[in-house]
Amino acid sequence: MTKIQMGSIQCQCGNLVKVTLHYSINVRINPELKQKTLKRKINNYYCEKCGAKSELAYQFLYVDYNYDEWIWCYPEGMRNEEAKIREKMQNSPSTKLLNSLGTGTKQTVVFGYDEFVKKITFYDSKFKKIKK
Ligand SMILES: [Zn+2]
Repeated sequence: MTKIQMGSIQCQCGNLVKVTLHYSINVRINPELKQKTLKRKINNYYCEKCGAKSELAYQFLYVDYNYDEWIWCYPEGMRNEEAKIREKMQNSPSTKLLNSLGTGTKQTVVFGYDEFVKKITFYDSKFKKIKK
């Protein structure tokens, strides 16, 4: 269920910047993407016209079946749209898919790489404890 496509993001200067967009990341299928994501290398963009750059310019869905939650990671700048984003999440295909799986796995929203990395670190330490 990893979905990667070429896309473009409109820069504040009007330039359309081509980026490789990760819409969703399933680390069971693509374990190599975990490190890439933790190194904050997903969905960044750089505008050659005006030099603007942005870390995490587009959201992605992060799926690790070891976790209790699927994590939607949104750009830091969209924090004030949280209510709208959560509503959209409830109506998304991922919600239907999760319900059909019946595993009780939830979805959550984080903003920016800082929150994302914190979440992953939390789950990984929890998972390590269980394994011991
Ligand atoms: Zn620009």
